[in-house]
Amino acid sequence: MNDTSAVSPGRMTGVTKSPMMLLVYFGAPGSAMSPLTIPADISISDRRTAEDGSPDFISVGKTDTDYIIFGLALAVPLEELIPGPVIVNPVLGVRVRRDLAEAFRLELTRARFLDKDHAIIDEGGDVVIPVPAPPPSALLDKYGAAVIDIELPPRKHRTDPIDEIRRTAEVPDSLRSHLPSKWERFGDVIVLRLDGQLERYEVELARAYAKVLGLKAVLKDVGGISGDHRRPVIKVLFGEDTVTTHIENGIRYRFDPAQIMFSSGNEEERIRMACLSCTGETVVDMFAGIGYFSLPLAVFQKPLRIVACEINPIAHSYLVENIALNKVEGIVEPFLGDNRSLPGESFADRVIMGYVKTTHEFLPTAVRLVKDGGVIHYHETCPNELIPERSLKRLQDSVGGGEVTVLRIKEIKSYAPGVTHLVVDARIRKPA
Ligand code: SAM
Repeated sequence: MNDTSAVSPGRMTGVTKSPMMLLVYFGAPGSAMSPLTIPADISISDRRTAEDGSPDFISVGKTDTDYIIFGLALAVPLEELIPGPVIVNPVLGVRVRRDLAEAFRLELTRARFLDKDHAIIDEGGDVVIPVPAPPPSALLDKYGAAVIDIELPPRKHRTDPIDEIRRTAEVPDSLRSHLPSKWERFGDVIVLRLDGQLERYEVELARAYAKVLGLKAVLKDVGGISGDHRRPVIKVLFGEDTVTTHIENGIRYRFDPAQIMFSSGNEEERIRMACLSCTGETVVDMFAGIGYFSLPLAVFQKPLRIVACEINPIAHSYLVENIALNKVEGIVEPFLGDNRSLPGESFADRVIMGYVKTTHEFLPTAVRLVKDGGVIHYHETCPNELIPERSLKRLQDSVGGGEVTVLRIKEIKSYAPGVTHLVVDARIRKPA
């Protein structure tokens, strides 16, 4: 069986691509099982008796492309239970809580445990994700997920839209292959990067992307992100209204991608915030933006309050709108202004510093706001050769005679050649 094969109590399943030989293991799961090679054209149920004498069966089903093996250890002879050939249900699903579904799906994808041929469905408030075989129990336990037998509908395979865009765009044939096949999509707006030779045709191109992808606006990334307010440098190529609602992991982010950045590379960190247990805590989000971290924390966890500080009035106005849109008015308190002017000291159980380049300059403020024994999530962009020493030194310097205990260091993304965006979670003991 291939690496997606697995054994779970009472059952084993595996998938292999034809026309390979099937290596099938017989025996009660967990017992010493002996491999047996079966010709790949087998498509009927088959059964054997395990070496220890207990009756077992294994069935081999065939789809257009895969052989599906499904075995079950039985306590009674097979004939007493199933009078005819065994019908194999090749579709397995894992049921998981809705708020954990996106994080779980990402991990399943990374571990190659996502069945991309079937659809993810909502069921009774939970989400069921198709898998080719039961994932490792450690992964299931981490998300409180359970394997279930379920008939899931096939996923609709769409044709790649770039083929249609390249076919229909009004550009010289020689340039068609240069049309970007990747873009950042926020709701019904995209941001494209175009190489120089496409500049003359950018308006026609934008029209083609908008038509095929069903967009209301197409923007061009002209100069990355600039300034203290982290504003994107953008040219609008198509459309007039560029404000959109982007949904990620169940959170609604309303904003204008022509004026406000949204880092796709930080998605995992936003999901981590959704999973960060902080019941009853007071949290300060020093660089709140439109609510990147405050919203998932407020929606999926139970903090007492989150003070969300944002200096840019445009981002702040979307923050206010998003707090209402996600119905967390009683938790997130928007604050317009420089976080260094936030009043109070030693009141935050947790301080989030989701900023890059000059974050260390704000450490004295974070240390002022955090309680003795509280946690700072310190983001930094750091040359690779200085990880993690520089971040740890900066944290330590900011607490003087206090103590910094590192709880976790996580590399978020590559920021520039040789530079990484990382986050250090650190518990802070203030000097006596
Ligand atoms: N972490 C975000 C994500 O997941 O995409 C990206 C960073 S966010 C854009 C940083 C925000 O901090 C910006 O909206 C910027 O205006 C804000 N900011 C910068 N300096 C600030 C300050 N001194 N006080 C409060 N907010 C500040």
